[in-house]
Amino acid sequence: MNQHIEALSPPAKPRKFGFFVDGQSVEAGSREVFERNSPGHGVPVTRIPKCTPEDLDDAVAAARRAFDDRRWSGLNGQARAAVLLRAGALIRERSEEIAYWETLENGKPISQARAEVGGCADMFEYASGLARSLHGDSFNNLGDGMFGLVTREPIGVVGIITPWNFPFLILCERVPYVLASGCTIVAKPSEVTSATTLILAEILSQAGLPDGVMNVVTGSGSTIGQGLIEHPLVDMLSFTGSTSVGRKVVEAAGRTNFKKLGLELGGKNPQIVFADADLEDAADGVAFGIGFNTGQCCVSGSRLIVERSVADDLARMIEEKFTKVVIGDPLNNATQIGAITTDAQNSTILSYIEKGRAEGARLICGGEQIGLGGGRSISPALFGDVTRDMAIAREEIFGPVLTIMPFDAVEEAIAIANDTEYGLAASVWTKNIDKALLVTRRVQAGRFWVNTTLAGGPELPLGGFKQSGWGREAGMYGVEEYTQVKSVHIEIGKRSPWIA
Ligand code: NAD
Repeated sequence: MNQHIEALSPPAKPRKFGFFVDGQSVEAGSREVFERNSPGHGVPVTRIPKCTPEDLDDAVAAARRAFDDRRWSGLNGQARAAVLLRAGALIRERSEEIAYWETLENGKPISQARAEVGGCADMFEYASGLARSLHGDSFNNLGDGMFGLVTREPIGVVGIITPWNFPFLILCERVPYVLASGCTIVAKPSEVTSATTLILAEILSQAGLPDGVMNVVTGSGSTIGQGLIEHPLVDMLSFTGSTSVGRKVVEAAGRTNFKKLGLELGGKNPQIVFADADLEDAADGVAFGIGFNTGQCCVSGSRLIVERSVADDLARMIEEKFTKVVIGDPLNNATQIGAITTDAQNSTILSYIEKGRAEGARLICGGEQIGLGGGRSISPALFGDVTRDMAIAREEIFGPVLTIMPFDAVEEAIAIANDTEYGLAASVWTKNIDKALLVTRRVQAGRFWVNTTLAGGPELPLGGFKQSGWGREAGMYGVEEYTQVKSVHIEIGKRSPWIA
């Protein structure tokens, strides 16, 4: 199924998936099943087992055994790299299939899903090199009697909990790096978008990953997710999702075994545009930054902070872009904005649009519910007359809602940008290098873009400042996150005795 098919349609009946433990796909059997309706079409597309607490225990036990007997961590980097490279090739081979199921469960445009899957293969290919370059440090300056080594060891069994907005991409920003480090995995995807995580488990097995190294349990956050964050045999937990569940993850780790945590949480990300920017580029980038993935993106640029002298012009240019963007069937190649992923998220976004109006902001355009046959979307909303205290300017909406706040001086732009509990990402648009660097240094965000937005790839690390999270994923930083450091002092020659 890897030709580029021009006219796709939803499947005639839902595809059944099993969960994945110890190298085997396990069918639902007598377990309850979650049936997922495509948010773009309103028809059932997948059936996923609801795992039991016993299934979770089995998965963690398999990952524990696979780590403790060193079947993966004991291999050399070359052998681990070979598996990751094969996995990258298999993802490319099955890219159409992965993109199709991603679009059906999530509602994102198929063209975007295809690009994401290509990026995921690249993550595996890049991480394969890191499996070979991971190394420690040495101290040859401790005198003739001592030599010091710092080694990196894989931390152990890693739980990975992912959200529904980028089910495959977020997974692949973690899995290859975790595997490069030598750890084993129990992944728990969002209950509404589990299909592509299960396809990845199958691919890794085909690529030669030993049984038990990658396990996937499916089910709700409150049962299987909560069980995973509390599990005493899990050494580290990488959680991507909301700040409220992130807090539960921290509490659970504190209550149980103090597992190490990686957290990627929410964002309310600024787009700072100076009057000297290329306004055509800025308008396009800002529209893309909030329209991409229907704004259901932790790094969406949802706060436009623009120099007052060009604010009206830029608003007009963005409005024009918003009215031209193609909203439609996610399976259509031409679609740029697809469906809102869940009914709950659809209601949340609409309620914020109402709240914005009620608080006195001016809706310049968009914010309308759009029917997609069986599914639904929301046209990108642009709000003017926004003040810093309004909910639409402060809270993460996770939808296509852009607020405009004008500024007069650089310091004011920086202050508005930093006036948030979050610190995930930020963009600055200017042709003045001094302003670009000043803002890049002073705005608190883990990811920064200058004259662009949402750029990424396997090389640069991802993660947030402030309440947007802990730790970094991707790049060599992403591999090192899943290791722990051991210091080794080695005495050379005869010991000088304590008791002579
Ligand atoms: P969510 O927090 O509701 O769910 C995320 C995952 O956690 C899901 O797999 C869910 O089943 C699981 N979960 C829910 N309750 C749990 C519990 N008690 N214990 C353990 N796991 C539990 O988030 P969501 O609605 O899927 O995604 C939207 C949120 O995710 C947004 O706030 C967004 O900012 C954030 N997000 C952040 C990033 C990032 O990289 N920073 C990326 C994507 C999404």
